[in-house]
Order: sequence, then C-alpha cells, then structure tokens
Amino acid sequence: MSGLQTKPTNLKRHYRRCRLLLVGLCLLPFSVQATDIRLGILAWQGESASAVQWAPFVAALQQKLPGQPIEPHYYDLQGMAQAIQAGEVDFVITNPGHYVALEYDLGISRIATQVPERSRDAMHTVGSAVIVRADRADLATLTDLKKKRLAAVSPDAFGGYQVIWAELKGMGLDPEAGDLTPVFTGFPMTQVIDDVRQGKADAGVIRNCLLEQQISAGFVKAGEFRVLSPHKSELPCATSSRNYPGWAFAATADTPGPLSRSVLIALLSLPPGDGGQQWGVPADYHPVHDMLRELKIPPYDFLRQHSFESYVREYWPVAAGLSILLVFWLLYTVRVEVMVQRRTRELSAALLQRDELEENVNAQRQQMEHLSRLSILGELSGTLAHELNQPLATITNYARSLTRRLARGNLSADATAQAADEIATESERAAGILNGIRAFARKRIRTRERCDVLQLVQEAVRLFRGMAAKAPEILIEDHLSPDTRWVDADPLQIQQVLLNLLKNAMDAQKTTGVQQAIEITLLPAGTGWAQVVVRDHGSGLSDEGLQQLFEPFFTTKEDGMGLGLSICKTIIESHGGALTARLPDDGPGLKLIFTLALSRQRPKTVKEAD
Ligand code: ADP
Repeated sequence: MSGLQTKPTNLKRHYRRCRLLLVGLCLLPFSVQATDIRLGILAWQGESASAVQWAPFVAALQQKLPGQPIEPHYYDLQGMAQAIQAGEVDFVITNPGHYVALEYDLGISRIATQVPERSRDAMHTVGSAVIVRADRADLATLTDLKKKRLAAVSPDAFGGYQVIWAELKGMGLDPEAGDLTPVFTGFPMTQVIDDVRQGKADAGVIRNCLLEQQISAGFVKAGEFRVLSPHKSELPCATSSRNYPGWAFAATADTPGPLSRSVLIALLSLPPGDGGQQWGVPADYHPVHDMLRELKIPPYDFLRQHSFESYVREYWPVAAGLSILLVFWLLYTVRVEVMVQRRTRELSAALLQRDELEENVNAQRQQMEHLSRLSILGELSGTLAHELNQPLATITNYARSLTRRLARGNLSADATAQAADEIATESERAAGILNGIRAFARKRIRTRERCDVLQLVQEAVRLFRGMAAKAPEILIEDHLSPDTRWVDADPLQIQQVLLNLLKNAMDAQKTTGVQQAIEITLLPAGTGWAQVVVRDHGSGLSDEGLQQLFEPFFTTKEDGMGLGLSICKTIIESHGGALTARLPDDGPGLKLIFTLALSRQRPKTVKEAD
C-alpha cells in the first residue's frame, strides 16, 4: 500500500520526544498525565482517505482530552502489528478480525466498540456487500458465484474478504477448494468497485455501506451495481453477510491504566453523530472468533496444520489407495477363511472316511487271519484226532490194566501209583494240545510283547507236532546270542506264521515223498535284526511260482485257499520285518526266510532284577 505510513519518521520521532520532554518538564509540577496519545488507525481505504474519514473523530476526541495531544498514525495490517511491537502506539482502532488476532498475538485489549450511526447495536455493525454490475442478470445470490471471479482487496481484509469467505464456505463454496476464483486488487477498496465495473471480475467484496458512501459522494452512479443476497438489518446499507461487532478501540499491553480510563471516558462521552463516530462499551467478539476458527486463519491458523480435514484434503489419494487395499485385503482374508473352513471340513470328512476304511480293513484282516488259522486247524484236524487218540489209548490201557489186576487181586500199591501217574501225564498231554489249539483258534486282538525268538520257534514246533501225526522231523539250529534273540512281537501271530511255513514245508515234502528233516535256522541278520529260515527238501517252486508265491489265492493244491503266505507276509511286515522265499543252493526244496527287529532293551534276568 504505497503512501501509507507504517512508522513515524525519525524526524517526527525526535520532534515528538523533544516536545514530550518539554511538555513533561513544564507540566511536571501540575500533572503527570499530560502526554501525547499515539493513536494507530487501520487505513483500509488508503492513508489519505482514512485521514479524511477519521479527522472529525480525532478532533472530537481531542476536545474531550485537552492538554493531551492526539497523534493519529495510519497503518496497514502488518504495519499496525509492527507499531504495537515497537511500542510506537498507545491505542489502536482496527477491524474486529484484526483486533482478535492482535489480542491473541500481542495482548492488546479493547476498551470500546464502534457503534454505527443511527443504531445502538454494537454487536451487528461490520459486514460485507458483494456487488455485481446491474446488467449481470445471471448473478442474483451468493450461490451464483460458483466458478466466478470474485474481486476483493486482500485475503487479510476482514469486511473486505473474510466475512464473505465465511458466508460462502457455509454454503459449500470454498475459494480455497477452487469453487470460485478470488481476484485480489489491493487497497484502496474502491479498486474492487473499479474491477467489477471494468469486468475484470464478475463480482466484488466491499465493506458494507461503502457502496452507499460512494454513491452519495458521486463516485458511483446509483443503479450501476446490485448487491447479492441482501440481508435485512438495522443498518441503512445493503449487506450480503451476517454482521459482526464493530471496530475495536484497544489499548496496548504497555498503555498505562489511568490513560486508558481517561480515553475511555472521553470516547463514551462523545456526542452521537459527532464526527461520524459513536463508541460504546466493549462488545463480545465471540462471533468473530467463531468465524476465524471456521476459516482457520489467524489466530486459528494452527488448526490448518492439524485438522483431520486438512489431512484428508492433502492425503486423500493415499487414503483412498489404502482404503482400496484394505477392502481387498479384507475380501481376501474372508475368502481365505471360507476356503480354509471348507478345506478343513473336507479334510475331516476324508480323515474320518480313511479311519473307517482302516478300521474295516483291520477287521477284515483279523477275520482273514482267523479264517486262516481255522483253515490250518481244519487241515490238521484229521491228524489231530489221531494225535489225541494216543494219550487217550494209553489212559484206557492203564485203567483196564488196573481193573484186571484188582480182579486178580495182584494190584500192588506201587503199581497203582505208577498207573495213576501215567494216566495223569497222558491227560495233561492231551489237555496241553487242546489248550494250544483253543488259544490258536480264538479270535483276538493283536498285542506286542517282549519274546525270545528261540522260545517262539520251539513252542510252534511243539504245537505243530501235537497237531500233525506224521510230522517229519524238525531240526532247530540256533545261532542267536542272548543279546540277539529278543523281539517285540505278537507271539501267536509269529506262531501262526511258523505253523503255516511248517505245514507248507510238510506238504511240499509229501508230494515228493522225501523223508528228510525240516530245518529251522535262527541267526542274526545285520545290526538289530534276527532272521528265521525254514528250509524243506520238497518240490520247490518254478521261477513263476516264486514270483506269485505271496499273492493272495495263489495255490497249487487242490484243497488250498492260497491265503496262508499272503497273510504271513502281512503279519511279518506289520512287525516291521520282511518275508521272502529263495531256492536253496544245496539241493531241492525251498527256503522261506523272515526277519524280525530286535527289541531295543533286553529284559532283565531274574538275577539282574535282584
Ligand atoms: P495254500 O497252502 O492254501 O495253497 P499258501 O499261501 O500257504 O496257500 O501257499 C501258496 C502256494 O505256495 C502253495 O499252494 C504252494 O504251491 C506254494 N508253496 C508254499 N510253500 C511251499 C514250499 N515250501 N515248497 C513248495 N511250494 C510251496
């Protein structure tokens, strides 16, 4: 703002100091209050226009404060703040928005508020008018300003811009968001009227009543401009906005209290209409605070840095991107969750089905093993009857012999005791055979026990001999040491395997009529394994037979089922071992070989346990 005085000149300052000194010295004996009153006034129309406008007021005030010369200084917004900081003014007169900012920043405090002529309502004085050329039929209300050019003096001007900015923002038209384009002309405010007149802007913001003043001064033709959205108010001028409290007359933080009091009394005692100024008690500036807060401008500009809206405005593309990602992530998570649940259900069903199948297979395998045992028993039953006949015949003989001797009267006590002993022995033998068969034939659940391999073989041979009347000789050759003969096994299952192998060996030898002994060899097989070899001297097998040997239902016998060896293989494999067949290198016959894993721990002997 050219020509506007922002600071008193050095010359003036010296002059003022000297004068103050002189006046002070002269008046010292009489009064300590006779000092200059330095009054800063906001020059919104430019310095010269403002000086003309305020001169009557300054003169009227001076009359009320005789002996205290009033020095008016005219400033723009920044100039006034600098003058207060430099201590160059005692009082300032400024617009409500500027007053609120200076109160916040520099601690000035209002002592009076300007009241408009012909009104006593100090709370509703300052407003703005938005003018358009009368020929602009397209512009009737403030909302018509969307995307239009709006002339205003400066973004800092209270009535000259900010008041209308707040109105527009309340209607959803924010110049900051690009809803319309502000065109700043600079002071004096009449520049705005010129711009609208020349079509440099579609509309212009001016302080209310300026248009009427310009018309009455003859600078503007009546009817040349229209005011948009005119409000009804007590004021005699058209206004497009709400009205705010009037200008403030404020003392700086350093102004002495007595001086403020005497100036306030002078202000309040100014006759109405005198000098065109009228002052009342300080008004409530809360509506101004609210407005500045809404616009986030000084002293509320700090809200700009932190408001959620400002973040949203600044970072909305990032926020939108993140939101989209979040939505995708949520959808993905839900989809994965649904899939996991579906797969889990399917898996559980499959596992259940597998368990049921396994149970079925196990039950069938056990049934099969049972059948196989029964089949061995069936095949051996003929010879079993013959075998049981022997002890029974012996028992019968001894009983008859006892009866005869008793009849003859030559039955000695010794002979009776011997016969009874023999009868008991033979009965026990028969009972032993029957017990073995019963245990073997019983349906049972598989177990695992620590067993001595040699003992298993010996028991199987004993049972076989008990069941088969004309069993060939069976030789057992044991190469296992006490450390290599313990296995964890189901003794009855291993016995079943041995019985099957012995029966097959016997059948093979029968077909060729060979009388040689069947050989069972026990020997260690590598680390941790024992091996049992059952070798016969019978028919042997062709290569093709050898390949099919363990297949279920492979049999060369008329009454054979062909299940024995396949069940034996399953049993040995369920013990972790293997069952194989090999032709011997030293003559006819066949070798059936199975392995069993040695138990990790040998059971303690009775002696060791003690
Ligand atoms: P089955 O005895 O009911 O035929 P196995 O599964 O026990 O069923 O035997 C299948 C076949 O294997 C027998 O029919 C026989 O041909 C052959 N076989 C088994 N052991 C011997 C053996 N030691 N010597 C010769 N052939 C054998």
